[in-house]
Amino acid sequence: MIQVKAFAAYDAETPLRPFEFERKEVGANQVQIEILYSGVCHSDIHTAKGDWGPAIYPLVPGHEIVGKIIKTGENVTKFEVGELAGVGCFVDSCRKCQSCIEGEEQFCDEGMTGTYNSYERGTTTPTYGGYSTTITVDQDYVLHVSDKLDLKGVAPLLCAGITTYSPLRYLKVGKGHKVAVLGLGGLGHMAVKFAASFGAEVTMLSTSPSKEADAKALGAHHFALTTDPATMDSLANSFDFILNTVSAKHDYNTYLNLLKKNGTMIIVGAPPAGEPLQAFTLIFKRRSIMGSLIGGIKETQEMLDYCAEHNITADVEVIDMDYINEAYDRMNKSDVKYRFVIDMASMK
Ligand code: NAP
Ligand code: ZN
Ligand code: ZN
Repeated sequence: MIQVKAFAAYDAETPLRPFEFERKEVGANQVQIEILYSGVCHSDIHTAKGDWGPAIYPLVPGHEIVGKIIKTGENVTKFEVGELAGVGCFVDSCRKCQSCIEGEEQFCDEGMTGTYNSYERGTTTPTYGGYSTTITVDQDYVLHVSDKLDLKGVAPLLCAGITTYSPLRYLKVGKGHKVAVLGLGGLGHMAVKFAASFGAEVTMLSTSPSKEADAKALGAHHFALTTDPATMDSLANSFDFILNTVSAKHDYNTYLNLLKKNGTMIIVGAPPAGEPLQAFTLIFKRRSIMGSLIGGIKETQEMLDYCAEHNITADVEVIDMDYINEAYDRMNKSDVKYRFVIDMASMK
């Protein structure tokens, strides 16, 4: 067994604190990764705090993992010891349903095996995520990471990156499109970078006036304060797409009104509850609303390769593991620029 040091939520109320556990020895098809950096996603907070229902405690969050391969099983052909590697939101799936075959394992009919808050397939062993010193994962669910990019800024690509890249690609967003990104946090700042990189005209829609200069530096062409009613009125019927990354309860109807005829709101933010949807906001301009969940392994690799080619990484604030509870408090106040990343060396 492999001894692992971690930080865990023991329940929905108390702060995260140290936790030690064992992972199984590296299987024939698995690699062992020494975790170097682990991003902090708002989904970690939702899960730890029970926003989406009861979690499996003790819960070790973290699904934006980058590190170095330190051991490979005897059947491993895709990775070698010493290489950089990444792990995202899931570590297994059924591998035989239509979604798995198509490389969209996140939509697996049997349910993907989450990197945390899941059970290893066919067992009662909980999965533990990236707020830990090391992880073992099947090679088919591990990503190659370029050594050209700053590793700290790569970690958030494994969730915030793919979650925003995937729907923009699915909808073929690019030149000639007016795209609004709603909410400037971890997902939002990656959405701005990708949408601008794909050639769209990007507007940042934010509740935080202090983020205007940053939004523009990230690549947004315009910034609009959603708390100002006159600004909201002036933006009615403006956008082809709105990528909604908001983590807290909000009124979708207000923002749907900003879509043009035939416009689409892409929901990636996953607040625990929502306001009722008014049919008229959709009906009158044939607007749509769609959801999107992370991305499959194939597309995640494509996104990482795109980032290496175009020198795209997340803007991060590196923290020690024991800062995690303050980081959660700050994210709940929309105070993050724009992703906390844990330096796992702080666990040694
Ligand atoms: P984050 O870094 O905390 O950013 C969320 C941003 O939403 C805030 O910075 C803030 O931006 C805005 N916001 C917060 N409360 C708001 C409110 N009441 N009204 C309007 N805007 C508000 O969170 P994140 O890590 O980017 O995650 C965002 C959401 O996506 C979470 O719910 C997370 O669980 C979900 N998620 C979904 C997927 C998926 O596959 N679909 C994947 C990862 C995460 P401003 O200051 O600019 O207003
Ligand atoms: Zn996430
Ligand atoms: Zn499947």
